[in-house]
Amino acid sequence: MKAIRVHATGGPEVLRVEEVPAPTPARGEALVKIEAAGVNFTDIYYRLGWTKAALPFTVGVEAAGTVAAVGPEVTGFEPGERVVYTGPLGAYAEQAAVPAWRLVRVPRGIDARTAAAAMLQGMTAHYLSHSTYPLKAGDTALVHAAAGGVGLLLVQMAKMRGARVIGTVSTEAKARLARDAGADEVIDYTQADFEAEVRRLTGGRGVQVVYDSVGKTTFDKSLNCLAPRGYLVLFGQASGPVPPVDPQVLNQKGSLFLTRPTLGNYTATPDELNARAGDVLGWVAAGRLRLRIERTFRLAEAAEAQRLLASRGTTGKLLLVPS
Ligand code: NDP
Repeated sequence: MKAIRVHATGGPEVLRVEEVPAPTPARGEALVKIEAAGVNFTDIYYRLGWTKAALPFTVGVEAAGTVAAVGPEVTGFEPGERVVYTGPLGAYAEQAAVPAWRLVRVPRGIDARTAAAAMLQGMTAHYLSHSTYPLKAGDTALVHAAAGGVGLLLVQMAKMRGARVIGTVSTEAKARLARDAGADEVIDYTQADFEAEVRRLTGGRGVQVVYDSVGKTTFDKSLNCLAPRGYLVLFGQASGPVPPVDPQVLNQKGSLFLTRPTLGNYTATPDELNARAGDVLGWVAAGRLRLRIERTFRLAEAAEAQRLLASRGTTGKLLLVPS
């Protein structure tokens, strides 16, 4: 089968299309024939070596398709079932062997591309808005990169929970998309000082939570946007890693909370995974959560897809399809 492999970490050119043996499902695993794989910023961190993986590895942590076979001791899934998953490496490929407990059944009425587009970014937006800092009516949230894949979903979920949402984006076109998703205020943080704008928009009070996936270029000012006892939820580093932080800063700026969450810890048990995925896929099926699939690439075009995502040139989801 074809797979996109990394033998040495680096730029998009290290992504190689290779012919490799199809995996055999081990105990507790299912073999998934992949119909669509998600392209995520996380894949770029793996490719750069910012997230460690033993070399060589097959890229990709999200896919939807059909169960082709099951290994020993798998109960609950059978060949032919339509499934979606996120977590284990190996999704930029024609097939992947995945721990069966990570699989979620795709509801009727949702196709594989939609399921692959919803899973990782949808469950991320879900845990951020419902668990890490559970938003409530009366809260104001600052969402950076509000027109990105996670951003557009997080804005919608924050509105579902009754919060006021301030989004940041880098272009007018992205501002329109963030507003369409429900953002009450949108700041172009490449033109305006977002800290000053947030102070102005909140009458100097600050926000209860900042969801910051940009990292290096936003972190310090994000702290300054918080109301006393506010939460800085640093969940990504699209602009680069944040340097070490002196915890004393959290005291000086108003008894703040800082957390650096990751999806795996918020889908750590089958019950939590299925509850979160059930909400996300259910809302998509019911038309309550709008997905934006920006572009679909062939598997062999993985490097081009990642280049585009890293260039800030995208809004919403990018997918890879094995032809
Ligand atoms: P996005 O579609 O959001 O793309 C990243 C966006 O970040 C860009 O479009 C851009 O928006 C913004 N950005 C700001 N500065 C830069 C920069 N220097 N280089 C590139 N982009 C920049 O990607 P995803 O939805 O896939 O992921 C969003 C973030 O969420 C990532 O940081 C990712 O790591 C994180 N994430 C974290 C998870 C977790 O559990 N912790 C799970 C899933 C994703 P703009 O042009 O508007 O500035």
